[in-house]
Amino acid sequence: MRIYPLSEGSFTIDQTKVFVPFNTNTENLQLRPKGSILVEIQPFVVVTDNDIILLDTGLGYFNNAGILQIHANLMAIGIDPSSVTKVFMSHLHKDHAGGMTYVHPTHQERFVSFPYAKYYIQKREFEYAMSEPSSSYIAEQIAILESFSGVEWLEDDHGTIDNLIHYQMTAGHCKFHQACWIKEQNETVFFGADVAPQLQQMKSKFVAKYDMDGKKSMEWRQLWWELGKIEQWNFAFYHDIQFPNYTPCKTV
Ligand SMILES: [Zn+2]
Repeated sequence: MRIYPLSEGSFTIDQTKVFVPFNTNTENLQLRPKGSILVEIQPFVVVTDNDIILLDTGLGYFNNAGILQIHANLMAIGIDPSSVTKVFMSHLHKDHAGGMTYVHPTHQERFVSFPYAKYYIQKREFEYAMSEPSSSYIAEQIAILESFSGVEWLEDDHGTIDNLIHYQMTAGHCKFHQACWIKEQNETVFFGADVAPQLQQMKSKFVAKYDMDGKKSMEWRQLWWELGKIEQWNFAFYHDIQFPNYTPCKTV
């Protein structure tokens, strides 16, 4: 099994929840509005024996060549976007769900970005996102998924997809957030998305202000970090600027 981060760059965000590109080499962190946080936006692609799996889909921005960022990033590592077989969605905040669909630059019509893939989406998260528009959810990015036959709606709190992906609803970050594990042979890729977004948070007690239930997220992180050490998980950190992937030292 191979995993590749598909970084869309570093961004700074303040209370307005607008993602502003940020160059860590040339810009000064101190000059940002108070309470700003700095994050990477980083979906992942996991290549297994029979599947090409995306873990979340990025912001959905277009690059300078007019190509959807996540399509360009896949092509840059030799993966044809139309060969993606599965798209797993942790939750539908705009920095994760933006690339699920896109507006065609000339037709101005919205399309599904991975029409040959199955999209795995938590049903309650979708309904919540559609019914509670906010600065975090953009209904028009996801509305067409309701009529897309490729969606497999996940309705349980946990379950297994094709004997390969195990998902667990966690809440914590938002009401219906879910994490997943991909297991093949003796390897485990773990994607905790926004409940486990950065390496540093795994190692220290940290309650995030941006979480709906910060304490719950912290408890999940502590549990996962212990299990991950024992079982040698490969952690995929969606918002880590320095460590997209990390396997902790083994404990017995
Ligand atoms: Zn996020």
